[in-house]
Amino acid sequence: MTAPSPGEILLSAEQIQQRVAELAVEIRRDAPDNLHLVAVLKGAFVFVADLVRCLSGPVSLDFMSVSSYESKTASSGEIRLVQDLGAPLDGRHVVIVEDIVDTGVTLVRLQQMLRARNPHTLKTACLLSKTARRQVDVTVDYVGFTIADRFVVGYGLDYAEQYRHLPHIAVLET
Ligand code: 5GP
Repeated sequence: MTAPSPGEILLSAEQIQQRVAELAVEIRRDAPDNLHLVAVLKGAFVFVADLVRCLSGPVSLDFMSVSSYESKTASSGEIRLVQDLGAPLDGRHVVIVEDIVDTGVTLVRLQQMLRARNPHTLKTACLLSKTARRQVDVTVDYVGFTIADRFVVGYGLDYAEQYRHLPHIAVLET
């Protein structure tokens, strides 16, 4: 059996860069000050690195890590807090930065968890959204691209910890 590998390029590096710059403008418009990004590791590390460099004006940044998938391509429905934030969220305009929203289960739990920490506002930015796969009602304020139900890698997204380094988003082919 051949190992799955990236095939068709769904989104080029240029398409992604352009959209990330647009998202930065939208986010800044909604939060002119006290903007605090919470990036969800590991998948969002590339997205947040580009996003933060497109933002004009001051912004602070923190990371948290949750696990849900663990080298599989199907959602377990549970999330585990692997690494918590380093700073409180009180009074800040917090934007969760996620790589992809699929069923929505992970994001709903994250939003509940962070809302309980009293941010001034809480919004969410996802680079990718698989709308057709949604199982729960979840608000995503900033969506980079809506994609079809295909397993993708690259630009931070992995398969068994591989392919995060790709500058584009590709479909994993088995
Ligand atoms: P959800 O809870 O929305 O079903 O799952 C969200 C998480 O599933 C994402 O943060 C990501 O880790 C993983 N995931 C969902 N779809 C994909 C995909 O197409 N590719 C990769 N690499 N991860 C995915």
